[in-house]
Amino acid sequence: MLVHKISEVKDAVNKWRGEGLKIGLVPTMGALHAGHASLIKKAVETCDKVIVSVFVNPIQFCPGEDYNEYPRTLDKDVELAESIGADLIFAPTPDEMYGAGQRLSNDTLAYVVPPFFYVNKLCGKSRVGHFDGVCTVVAKLFNITGADYAFFGQKDAQQLVIIKKFVKDLNFPIEIVSCPIVREESGLALSSRNKYLTEDGKKDALVLSKILFNIKACYEKGITDVSALKETAFSYLTDKHDMEYLEFVDKNDLEDKTTADNDTLVLIACRVEGVRLIDNILLA
Ligand code: AMP
Repeated sequence: MLVHKISEVKDAVNKWRGEGLKIGLVPTMGALHAGHASLIKKAVETCDKVIVSVFVNPIQFCPGEDYNEYPRTLDKDVELAESIGADLIFAPTPDEMYGAGQRLSNDTLAYVVPPFFYVNKLCGKSRVGHFDGVCTVVAKLFNITGADYAFFGQKDAQQLVIIKKFVKDLNFPIEIVSCPIVREESGLALSSRNKYLTEDGKKDALVLSKILFNIKACYEKGITDVSALKETAFSYLTDKHDMEYLEFVDKNDLEDKTTADNDTLVLIACRVEGVRLIDNILLA
C-alpha cells in the first residue's frame, strides 16, 4: 500500500506493534533497481512487515547537485516493492517530512551531525553537509517507523559506516543490516544515477569496478603496499575519467591505511560524462 503521510505510517506501525510483529525499514530515494530489490528481499526474509521509504531528500543534496533532475518513478517503484513483498511504501513530500514553510537549513532545523572524522573524507570532502542530511532523514525515518531493523547497501559504504556509528553513539534501538553490492553482469554497480549515462558512458563507467577488481586480485597475489596498489589504477584511466578519489580505509572506522589487510575497504569516486559514480570493494 502506498501512503504519503507520517500519520498513516504510524497507524500501520501501531497496529503491527499490537500484533507483536517485527518491522523492517528500507530507506531509498526511489528509481528502484535490482540493488534496492535485494535490500527489500532481505527485509522481507528477516521481518514480518516491511516499509520501503521513497523520498528524494532535499537536505542531502549540495548546491549544484541533481536534486531536481534526480529520477522519480514512484508508480514503478510501488509495483516493484510490492511484488517483492513490501507491505507499505512511504513516499512523503518534503513539506510532510520537514513541515510546510520550514526553511531547510541547520540554522532553523535540528540535524543529526555525524562525527567530523567520518565525514571529512571520501565523499564527504566534495559533498559538504551531505551526510548531515542523510543522518537527519534516516533518524527521522527510524523514529517515524519505529523499525526493529533497517537495511542499507554496501554500495554506499561510507554512508553505512556513518549510520552504524550514529545509531551506536545515540543509542537508536534499531539493528542495521548491510547488504552486498548488486552489479550488472559487466561489473558495473547498479545505481539510480546510471540512468544519466549514454551507452558509451556505461562502458567507460566499467573502469571503476575493473580498477577495484584488479586491486583485489593484486592484494590476493600478496601486494599490500597501498601506494603500489593505487598505481595499478592508472592504466585503466582515459580522458573520459575524471577521478575524484581512490582510497584505502579500515572498513569499520574509515581510518586511512598505508598497508592493505583483510579489514581494508577500497573506495573509488569518478565522474564519467559528468555523472559522479562511486563503487567500493572489501579486500577480505
Ligand atoms: P538510494 O536510493 O540510492 O539512496 O539507495 C537506497 C539504498 O539502496 C542504500 O542503502 C543504497 O546503498 C542501496 N543500494 C543502491 N544501489 C545498490 C546496489 N547496487 N547494491 C546494493 N545496494 C544498493
